[in-house]
Amino acid sequence: MQYQAANDLLKNRTILVTGATDGIGHEAALTYARHGARLILLGRNQQKLDHVGAEIHHKFGQFPSLFKIDFATAKPEDYQTLAQHIALVAPTLDGVLHNAGILGKILPLMDTPPTLWKQVMTVNLDATFYLTQAIMPLLLNAEQASLIFTTSSVGRQGREGWGAYAMSKFATEGMMQVLAEELADTQVRVNCINPGGTRTQMRANAYPSEDSTKLKTPSDIMPLYLWLMGDDSQATHGQSLDAQPGRKAGPAE
Ligand code: NDP
Repeated sequence: MQYQAANDLLKNRTILVTGATDGIGHEAALTYARHGARLILLGRNQQKLDHVGAEIHHKFGQFPSLFKIDFATAKPEDYQTLAQHIALVAPTLDGVLHNAGILGKILPLMDTPPTLWKQVMTVNLDATFYLTQAIMPLLLNAEQASLIFTTSSVGRQGREGWGAYAMSKFATEGMMQVLAEELADTQVRVNCINPGGTRTQMRANAYPSEDSTKLKTPSDIMPLYLWLMGDDSQATHGQSLDAQPGRKAGPAE
C-alpha cells in the first residue's frame, strides 16, 4: 500500500497493541509512537515488555504503559481486571490493535491434539473476544476509535495443514463482521488486517525452508497499520484488508 502518513497522525491518541514484544506488533508499537500516539502495550514476557518500553522511551521520549498478561492462561475475569487497570492510566482508547497470536503446528486437522486446538483457539480467538469485551467501554469513550483484528489468508480460504490456526482466523473474521453490524451506530469502527507473508519468527516456524529475504519486513507493511488506525480511514468499517494487496498466499517466490 502506498500511504504517506502525517507525522502527527496519531497525536493525542491512546493506542493499545497486543503482542507488542516481537514481530509485527513490536514494529506497530514503534510506528504508532513515531506518529505521536501514547501507547499501552500488552505482552506475556515482562523482560521483553520492559525492553520495548525502554526502546520507545529512548527513541520517542515517552514511557508507554506496560501490562503483562498471558493470553494462554488468562481467565475471562482477568481481562476485566486488566481493563480496570488500563482505565486508571487511559480512560479513553482511540485505537486497539489485536495482533498477538500463535501458529500452533502445521499438521492435518484430524491429527490435531485437543490440547493444541484449545491453546490456539484460546490465544488467537478467546483472548481477542474477552479483551475486546472488557475494553469496549474505553473505546466508546473516544470521539472516534479504530479497532483492528489480525487475520490471515488461511482465515479466508482454507488450506490443508493450517488446522486450528486457520479456524481461529476464520472466527476472527466472523467476529469482526458481527461486531461491525453491532457497532454501526457508534463511533467505534472495526476492521481486520491480513499482514500477508511477513518476515517474523512465526513465519519462519510456518515455512522453515523459505528464503526469508524474499518476504516483506514488518516495517514494509506498516502503511496499512497506520492508515487504518488514523483518521484518513474514518469511513472504513467492517472490512478485511490486505497489507500486501495482490500478494499470492503461500511461500515466497
Ligand atoms: P510473532 O510470533 O513474531 O509475534 C507474536 C506476538 O504475540 C509476540 O509478541 C508474542 O509474545 C505474542 N504472543 C504469543 N503468544 C502470546 C500469549 N499467550 N499471550 C500474550 N502474547 C502472546 O508473530 P507475527 O508478528 O508474525 O504475527 C503477528 C500477527 O500477525 C499474528 O496474529 C499472526 O497470526 C498474524 N499473521 C502473521 C503473518 C506473518 O507472515 N508473519 C501472516 C498472517 C498473519 P512473545 O514476544 O512473548 O513471544
